[in-house]
Amino acid sequence: MHADYACSEGCGFRASLLDIVYRCPRCGSLLEVAHDLEALRATPASEWKRRFEGRFGAARIPDASGVWGKREWAYPQLPVEDIVSLGEGRVPLKALPRMASALGLGALDLMECGVSPTGSFKDWGMTVLVSAVKHLRSRGVPVRAVACASTGDTSAALAAYCAAAGIPAVVFLPRDKVSLAQLVQPIANGARVLSLDTDFDGCMRLVQAVTADTGLYLANSMNSLRIEGQKMIAVELCQDLGWEPPDWVVIPGGNLGNASALGRGFELMLSLGLITRRPRIAVAQAQRANPFARAFRGGFREWVPMQAEHTLASAIQIGNPVSFRRAVRMLQAFEGVVEEATESELANAAARADREGTFACPQTGVALAAVEKLVARGVIARDARVAVISTAHGLKFADFKVGYHRSALADVASAYANPPVNLPAELDAVKAALADLSGP
Ligand SMILES: *Cc1c(COP(=O)(O)O)cnc(C)c1O
Ligand SMILES: [Zn+2]
Repeated sequence: MHADYACSEGCGFRASLLDIVYRCPRCGSLLEVAHDLEALRATPASEWKRRFEGRFGAARIPDASGVWGKREWAYPQLPVEDIVSLGEGRVPLKALPRMASALGLGALDLMECGVSPTGSFKDWGMTVLVSAVKHLRSRGVPVRAVACASTGDTSAALAAYCAAAGIPAVVFLPRDKVSLAQLVQPIANGARVLSLDTDFDGCMRLVQAVTADTGLYLANSMNSLRIEGQKMIAVELCQDLGWEPPDWVVIPGGNLGNASALGRGFELMLSLGLITRRPRIAVAQAQRANPFARAFRGGFREWVPMQAEHTLASAIQIGNPVSFRRAVRMLQAFEGVVEEATESELANAAARADREGTFACPQTGVALAAVEKLVARGVIARDARVAVISTAHGLKFADFKVGYHRSALADVASAYANPPVNLPAELDAVKAALADLSGP
């Protein structure tokens, strides 16, 4: 089995996965990794399922990785010794039965992609990209370092995988626009951290210019290798559900690479016969960084990048998403919609889900708020089975949680605030504080 780069707009350009190329040199579009579908079809769907499930319980890499346990669908010709894995994927699918029943849904499941080595779904894609770079270097291709611009989580993933592989990493971060936990991750992993006085889109422009001619390899999601790992989120979700896709998948979108990857995962399963039905997909954006939602409302007739405003959902504070076109195609193929959430809506939705035992990041809050709004508007039907892609661990966003429960977040009315009770160390005071205990 063998995969190549191909132009994602179908102009016919192809290149080897060993070439360093991020965009189609003929038409400027993004690339995609094109798999040999005929060769993949030679294996029946039942055998793919059996093989994937067999590897799922493994204790050792590569089978124990949620990505490399499905390696024939990611980077099939990559030698196993070049795999750089930290044990990504194989995440919990957490049911939210109380929220589901309050909304009248058949099921509401949270796919906890942030329960992962660096705490976000970015690990799913970064393992493929850094493995590909290790493979290039082991073949003598002079890659000095790997670089990315980031809203926080991409740089954490890049730094960790590069540290594991012994490859230098450079990260471009917008100053004061990532959480402290996100900033300290690449620092700890030994990356060169450039904290720039701009926003994500400004970092993106600079990293693209720098990687054009300096022997630095570009790790942003315009690099289609990452998409090949992230699409396994769709595959693992279906596997978790007994190969029966949910009715709806709701996913937060910033640069829109992950939403595109989700669609690719479903497309591949459909074309190989592992599933027979298409879920519908909803992309959720923060109202303050909603270029995709605006374009959707305009029927995608025009596409205007915007200046993203400050939002608690800082990982999706992006005004000029690089994967816009592939996300539009995905949305049309999956009868998709785009919904948006205000600061108050995203914070309260995250807090509501936390009360069922998760620890939702603000971006996941955007997706959960979108579920509430789409149900209220009748777009998601009663009794529908809904899966939400939780993109990061809430522990990365401790300030957001603390601020919420102190009712101290700007533009947020904390409906589920649960501040600590400050008491003198006296038994009577303690007993009084416990007189009216109720469940979460
Ligand atoms: C990167 C990121 C997103 C957005 O993913 P895109 O591929 O940029 O749309 C959402 N949530 C979190 C936590 C992220 O780190
Ligand atoms: Zn092209």
